[in-house]
Amino acid sequence: MLNNIRIVLVSTTHPGNIGAVARAMKTMGLTRLTLVAPEKYPHVEATARASGADDVLAHARIVASLDEALAGCHLIFGASARLRTIPWPQVDARACAALAVSASAATEEVAVVFGREQSGLTNEELERCHYLVHIPSNPAFSSLNIAAAVQVVTYELMMASLQAQPVAAGSGDEEHVPWATATEMEQFYDHLWQTVIDIGFVDPAKPRLLARRLRRLFNRARLDKNEFNMLRGILAAAQARHRAP
Ligand code: SAH
Repeated sequence: MLNNIRIVLVSTTHPGNIGAVARAMKTMGLTRLTLVAPEKYPHVEATARASGADDVLAHARIVASLDEALAGCHLIFGASARLRTIPWPQVDARACAALAVSASAATEEVAVVFGREQSGLTNEELERCHYLVHIPSNPAFSSLNIAAAVQVVTYELMMASLQAQPVAAGSGDEEHVPWATATEMEQFYDHLWQTVIDIGFVDPAKPRLLARRLRRLFNRARLDKNEFNMLRGILAAAQARHRAP
């Protein structure tokens, strides 16, 4: 039930933390680690802190961008130490785990993204996520060490997977259309943005909050592949009509 869940670390500074994350994951039955542009990796400190979870490190994917890390994902969570960094749907670690485990059990690809030790995730990175996940903590001292944060979230994933009832494939629910992936959603947002510029709805010099609001709206809606194709078709038709003399 946890097989389709990947943990993504963005630009981790300390290699020891990467090792500690691998250990936290393995203790909770997770194995898929993706590192986005780690500062120092591979590194002896990472291996030392993994203490026995080196197989998780050995299989880690190392990529240059968050886009690559999220390729193929249907459901994305961004872990944030601060509340209300941006107004965005928010869940605690337990609610995150319930959503993630039921999505993973339905063979959807899920990512939980963790930020830099110093500065966390940027707003642009958080806007790639369907939900922010926050571990309730002391408001005056809310930032956990990154490996501690991964431990709490992966513990909740383990607990949710133990509680979930496995559903036999093909039984019960009617087939649902697969969700659009993160890569498709980026194509959609590029297309949507180009269209609102083309039709004069927004001045590209003064975009204000429109791009964020559009992302929040469509991330909340979660497009399936049919809805994605329908909206791409509407955008293409709007552009064609606008271009027509
Ligand atoms: N100083 C940074 C904190 C970085 S801690 C900031 O204020 O954003 C490194 C990462 O650990 C964070 O980006 C987040 O992904 C995770 N993390 C730390 N504390 C957390 C909490 N209370 N809830 C959720 N994630 C947390």
